[in-house]
Amino acid sequence: MTVAATGLSGARLASALNHSAALERLPLVTLYLTERCNSRCVTCDYWRHGRADMNLDAVRALLPDLSALETGTVLLSGGEPLLNPEWPLIAELLAAHDLRLWLLTSGLSLAKHARRAADLFDTITVSLDGTDRDTYAAIRGLDAFDKVCEGVRAATDAGAEVTVRVTLQRANYRQLPKFVELAHQLGAAQVSFLAVDVANPHAFGRTDDFAADVALSLEDLPVLEQLLSCLERDCAGDFQSMFVAESPQKLRRIHQYFAATLGEGQFPPVRCNAPEFSAVMDAKGYVSPCFFIPGPRGAATPPDLLSALSTEQMKGLRADIRAGKRAECARCVCSMWRDPADERGSIGPRWRRSAP
Ligand code: SF4
Ligand code: SF4
Repeated sequence: MTVAATGLSGARLASALNHSAALERLPLVTLYLTERCNSRCVTCDYWRHGRADMNLDAVRALLPDLSALETGTVLLSGGEPLLNPEWPLIAELLAAHDLRLWLLTSGLSLAKHARRAADLFDTITVSLDGTDRDTYAAIRGLDAFDKVCEGVRAATDAGAEVTVRVTLQRANYRQLPKFVELAHQLGAAQVSFLAVDVANPHAFGRTDDFAADVALSLEDLPVLEQLLSCLERDCAGDFQSMFVAESPQKLRRIHQYFAATLGEGQFPPVRCNAPEFSAVMDAKGYVSPCFFIPGPRGAATPPDLLSALSTEQMKGLRADIRAGKRAECARCVCSMWRDPADERGSIGPRWRRSAP
């Protein structure tokens, strides 16, 4: 790649590449468009403390770095990314630079923006944590189940590929089979499940002690075990077609995770190279190696992706993660492994399927 192609000055490119021998490509970048959120999830603190938005100029300034790092996919997240008034302009700018766009949204305003979102995003993932109004309200803090379902339907009707993501926890795990049914009814392309994170104090912008009673109890474990067995038997076709993103074996890791939080056995083994192929930039422009592990602060002036990834602190952080020295990894609910031989990051269903 020539200096002209990257848009970087010769000195800066040489310096950056010199220091990033272990990270020359970054197929996936997550941008938090805002810290603000219109949901009120009990597991999250963004909606309590979040203020900052990422602006269009900051995203424009990132383009040379995304090009230099051969980024293929940008995931727009937050907070609730659709609260950023510049989201359509940001998405248009990124799409115009041949980047695949993936939106992660609560879906609260998706009905209103369905047509535009369907035009701009390759995949839209909607978090849906209940299969009825009461469960949704208990977890997300809002009576908005119908509104979110309306958003999913509107986006699929507008031609978008919509996937549903469910965070399993005590209040909703009994609805496991109903989530699959609901995702079909809404016209979703896929449904995926992960365990609520109860072990990582940094996730979801938590600044206070995380004490919400969301993990499963000992009495819940055999119930979940039975639900998983029934799902494997009754939804064999959905596993086969990968309408359910995870394999039955991977879903059983959720059971193992909750059991481990209760002292019943080990946490499921983690295989993750997320920091080798992706990075997260928050709404203030700070870069982290993944969602759960905060990056160094103050080493690079944000937003400056390439430099932030190339600092000695960041390289050390990635080395520690590779070496299994970070406690967050041992209890991670969202580890990801991607074949380094893949040419570009893929998104949506294909992305999920590649995870172990
Ligand atoms: S978990 Fe997501 S949707 Fe819920 S309040 Fe936090 S940022 Fe918003
Ligand atoms: S296992 Fe989890 S905490 Fe560790 S690097 Fe991967 S995503 Fe981050």
